[in-house]
Amino acid sequence: MHELSIAAEICRCVERATEAARKDGGAERRVICVKVRVGELSGVDPDALLFAWGAAVAGTPLEGSRLEIERVSARIRCRRCGAESGADFPGAVCPACGSPGTEIAGGTEMDVVSAQVDDGREG
Ligand SMILES: [Zn+2]
Repeated sequence: MHELSIAAEICRCVERATEAARKDGGAERRVICVKVRVGELSGVDPDALLFAWGAAVAGTPLEGSRLEIERVSARIRCRRCGAESGADFPGAVCPACGSPGTEIAGGTEMDVVSAQVDDGREG
């Protein structure tokens, strides 16, 4: 499954990024929440990614963490007038000037936004 390998990659990325925070004060702390940004054009299915998350993080410091997915819709930018707009598909015509010379301005991202580490306090 495509999303399982993506979930595993996110997991490795967060493990590296949070290593210092997780070992803060000498105690091993868990990651409790991971936020990612998934673009409409990234080829990643957010629902499949959520489904794969539990399996991907099993046995890692991220086990039991919650995955929050921010969905980013596709955007295009006109090469002629620079107008940005939402798009149903890449390569669409600019709604401002009618030029077909548009490029993708957003929606291809698959980024880790943040990871929250358990601060060790109760409640
Ligand atoms: Zn335009």
